[in-house]
Amino acid sequence: MITVRSDLCDVCGVCVAVCPACALKIVHSLEIDQERCISCMRCVKVCPVAALQDAPAPAEKERDRPIQPTQKHECDVLVVGGGPAGSLAALHAARGGRAVILLERRADVGVPVRCGEGIGKKGVSLTLTVPPEWIAATIRKISMVAPDGRVVEVRNVDESYIVDRKIMDRRLLQQAREAGANVFMSTPVASVNQSADGRYHCISGQTEFIAPCLILADGVESRLARDCGWEAFNRLKDIETCAFGRIKSALIKKDTCLFYTGSKISPGGYLWIFPRGEGAANIGLGIAGNRSGPGKARELLDTFIQEHFPGAILEDFHCGGVPVAPWRKPLVRSGAMLVGDAAGQVNCINGGGIAYALLAGKMAGTVAAQAFTGGKYNPDYLKKYQRQWARFHGRQQHRSFALKEMLLNYNDEVLNSIAGALLKENPDKLNYLRVFLRTFSRHPLLFLKAFMLFR
Ligand SMILES: Cc1cc2nc3c(=O)[nH]c(=O)nc-3n(C[C@H](O)[C@H](O)[C@H](O)COP(=O)(O)OP(=O)(O)OC[C@H]3O[C@@H](n4cnc5c(N)ncnc54)[C@H](O)[C@@H]3O)c2cc1C
Ligand code: SF4
Ligand code: SF4
Repeated sequence: MITVRSDLCDVCGVCVAVCPACALKIVHSLEIDQERCISCMRCVKVCPVAALQDAPAPAEKERDRPIQPTQKHECDVLVVGGGPAGSLAALHAARGGRAVILLERRADVGVPVRCGEGIGKKGVSLTLTVPPEWIAATIRKISMVAPDGRVVEVRNVDESYIVDRKIMDRRLLQQAREAGANVFMSTPVASVNQSADGRYHCISGQTEFIAPCLILADGVESRLARDCGWEAFNRLKDIETCAFGRIKSALIKKDTCLFYTGSKISPGGYLWIFPRGEGAANIGLGIAGNRSGPGKARELLDTFIQEHFPGAILEDFHCGGVPVAPWRKPLVRSGAMLVGDAAGQVNCINGGGIAYALLAGKMAGTVAAQAFTGGKYNPDYLKKYQRQWARFHGRQQHRSFALKEMLLNYNDEVLNSIAGALLKENPDKLNYLRVFLRTFSRHPLLFLKAFMLFR
């Protein structure tokens, strides 16, 4: 049977995201339903800190009896999850005049930070303008380090930011409150069900929250989606299992993001170093779930730091997961919507999900409010959200997924030869398009496939 070492578990939810039997859930801590478990070992494989193991069964413990809810709260739109997607959904549904409740498991949002905190100005500006107090660093260059150590500088990049997620997530939730959303913190939703009248009932401890319109923004775990009929678990190859933290070192450049690739450093993913002011940076890596092993992400990160930043101390260590799959279809089902990581709305090449989560949250919240006309709720109206998403970002994300699949076929030798070709270019003129063309021109067939994607 699978057991969890609670002293190691960081409640990051990566294991929940890959469990095909819905045997794992996080309420306050990770819970394992042994009766559902089919011993597939996927969870053990992806855990970044080796907190799960296949161990002998302890003596039978009496099962907790289900608690009967004693309190009820009703509203028009119920949002689960207070990350960027959930906050924006609640904000826009409330601005549209609906009675909104947002339920968040944690006591505070934005902590611990489970993110590299990098966002492109262009992507995020589709939803909002980043205020200066959210910005920890402004990025003007990136450096890509090939498996053989050669460094390619790309100087002609669009402006990007390293944001402070602690400030950003708190501020977004505050904006939702100010717009009228009723926010319940420390309120983990243990289960959701839909009654015969079509309304959703979210159960948290002894409290029941009821609404006809449900927006699930519960992050990478996406577990509640399964209660609502979605088959929301990730294939191993479509999840990046991550280990990350912060370091201080004089080697860090304050306006440059560094990306390391290669099968030794980060198989099927990459390692990032994103500066956060003078001499400090977010550092982390993601590896493809099918190339992971128990505790491998943490081990690789420690090895890298020892080799590249000898003496540096890794602070604020955490782990997490990024879904790198096509977004979930349908996004809308029987009066409920998925947004953000819960919907798999992530750029599959760089693992960035903040900008998508913000935009999807805004779209879903706006559509939820519009779905009530004359006080009557029309669940079919929610399909507008899926159409909007599919039209622009949906297509873009499918391309990023297809490109990721192609890049996974590249071994270290190919990556080294691409670096060699890019080093012949003028770094001041090098931009993402040029990198893309060079990358795929090494393989005419892949180039053709990549080209077809952008027709
Ligand atoms: C290691 C790592 C690095 C990353 N780096 C970047 C980056 O540099 N740039 C970028 O753009 N993206 C990055 N991402 C992705 C980005 O963090 C996510 O795409 C983004 O946070 C998604 O927002 P969300 O609101 O959908 O989910 P989340 O931010 O995960 O929020 C989900 C919320 O739901 C709550 N919740 C979950 N279950 C329940 C429940 N049952 N009841 C109540 N509440 C619940 C959680 O507590 C959480 O607050 C990274 C992700 C990881 C893991
Ligand atoms: S994957 Fe995350 S939630 Fe699951 S056991 Fe490991 S640390 Fe805990
Ligand atoms: S992932 Fe597999 S082994 Fe782990 S809890 Fe789920 S069914 Fe059991």
